[in-house]
Amino acid sequence: MKFTWIDALIGLFYPSVCAACGNTLYKWENIVCTRCKTFLPKTGYALNEDNPLARMFYGRVRLKAVTACFFFSKEGKVQHLIHELKYKGNADAGIFLGQELGKSLKDAPLFESLDYLIPVPLHPKREKERGYNQSLVIARGISEMTGIPLGEKYLVRSVNTATQTHKSKEERWKNVKDIFEVRNPEQLEGKYVLLIDDVLTTGATLEACALKLATIPGITISCATAACAG
Ligand SMILES: [Zn+2]
Repeated sequence: MKFTWIDALIGLFYPSVCAACGNTLYKWENIVCTRCKTFLPKTGYALNEDNPLARMFYGRVRLKAVTACFFFSKEGKVQHLIHELKYKGNADAGIFLGQELGKSLKDAPLFESLDYLIPVPLHPKREKERGYNQSLVIARGISEMTGIPLGEKYLVRSVNTATQTHKSKEERWKNVKDIFEVRNPEQLEGKYVLLIDDVLTTGATLEACALKLATIPGITISCATAACAG
């Protein structure tokens, strides 16, 4: 989009703020301020095969690798970014998270030769309410950084589930176990795919998606999220 005098005028009255800390951005900064970009807590898990997130899935579903870009803590800046993305309509926050995640995958041997990025699908009704699927926005940011194509058409959600926030691990699992469906599975035979979600907590959603994909012959699956508990 072209930067016009109207944008400049709007900027005078409504300066854009950092999606992580809320401070006013300088005009050369974009989405997140330089300070936050430098100090947001990175996990480094993309380079570590046997990390706590990978261990979380042992015995549940066979994954090649699992990573998250940042640690989030309550009231922290990463949580603020996720909140902007999920509840404030700030898709740019997701692009930023995806770009940072993409950078962390770029030089990681575990994530080499990926064929598709597959975002965890939202039910169409929820997507309509939010205006976008936050996992797809993150995947777009990753794709921008790495050139790996999006494969969002391959996984769909068939049942609308209530919010996960106040449910126990068991309830969450019952809730998500059979709500995903794979489309055109033959096109994923022998491929290496990366499942994308915003936050990794219990892993129930990613596990449910991965179990569906795991039935495809010769497929290799890894998972990446923007954030995980620190
Ligand atoms: Zn900031």
